[in-house]
Amino acid sequence: MSHPYLLTPGPLTTSARTKAAMLDDWGSWDKAFNQLTASICHDLLKISNASSRHVCVPLQGSGTFAVEAALGTLTFPESVVLVPVNGAYSQRIVTILQRLKRRYVVVQGPEKSPISFDVISQILDENPLITHLAIVHCETGTGVLNPLQSITELARGRGVEVIVDAMSSFGALPIDLSQLDLLALISASGKCLEGVPGMGFVITREESLLAARGNSSSLALDLTDQWTYLQKTGQWRFTPPTHVVAALAEALNQYWAEGGQPARHSRYSEMCTRLVRKMSDLGIHSYLAPEYQAPIIVTFLAPPSPAYSFQRLYKIVRQRGYILYPGKLTEIETFRIGCIGAIDGAVIDGAVSAVQHALQEMGVL
Ligand SMILES: *Cc1c(COP(=O)(O)O)cnc(C)c1O
Repeated sequence: MSHPYLLTPGPLTTSARTKAAMLDDWGSWDKAFNQLTASICHDLLKISNASSRHVCVPLQGSGTFAVEAALGTLTFPESVVLVPVNGAYSQRIVTILQRLKRRYVVVQGPEKSPISFDVISQILDENPLITHLAIVHCETGTGVLNPLQSITELARGRGVEVIVDAMSSFGALPIDLSQLDLLALISASGKCLEGVPGMGFVITREESLLAARGNSSSLALDLTDQWTYLQKTGQWRFTPPTHVVAALAEALNQYWAEGGQPARHSRYSEMCTRLVRKMSDLGIHSYLAPEYQAPIIVTFLAPPSPAYSFQRLYKIVRQRGYILYPGKLTEIETFRIGCIGAIDGAVIDGAVSAVQHALQEMGVL
């Protein structure tokens, strides 16, 4: 049997062309590889409509490495970071700040809804010492889309710097740096850009990056050092994930050929709508109200039947060629299905029919 489709928020299903781009070996100091690095950074800046003030700093590792590097480099020991928490990934930002021994203020919101503009506004009014706001754009824990634009404008109006974890939205949802004055925009190779996992990147203002020199207490996660070295040599500071970079370059070629961000957004939206509709035909409903749902990953409520088990659902669906994702909510039982990756309507249909088969086999339907 061929390898299963990944209906997960990364790693995700990649195209044959992207996989094939990993068949060559690259010298990390070779000019051809340096050009590849320069070209992906150029593309990533273009996707975010960055200006000449912005730079893109690539970093080895999964997305969390880039989040930790951005927080550790771009905040100062005296900074106070406001973190609105409405899911697992915003909670992870809090954990990182604790490890970094940075001061922070947490606003806990319900997981079912986006971060509230009014609540953030009130907290900013009450806490004039807050210097930074760290927000997750699409909370992959549930699939909620947070109001990036209005919250960023609110924070910038008070002189607060904004750091965005756009891991699961970058490339698919519009993020325009000419409209949004962000200190850091963070994402990674293996999500909506449809590359393979292994590198993150941080898009920031060069001026802010240089002013942050000396902040990072980590050697490997120091973005200012990483950037300075890249500037000077055209090379990554330590061994780059060469195959990941090559795959991302090829994935970006396909991204532009597809029509860039608007096209990717519209394909993912179609996948998401189709998935939610077909699952609801089976009697399986999504956790979020449709107006809060980002077209990235959908959280479904587990059927209330005692015959249901995620383990069995996973196993049966896996045998039919699709990989699902467990839920990340503490209170209620859910599971998640991603609608991103190199997939089309036939993949969604196949996955839903595998779910139907599994529910029948378990005696839930
Ligand atoms: C995937 C993801 C991350 C990074 O997670 P890793 O496990 O390190 O890849 C961070 N934030 C969000 C919102 C994500 O979706």
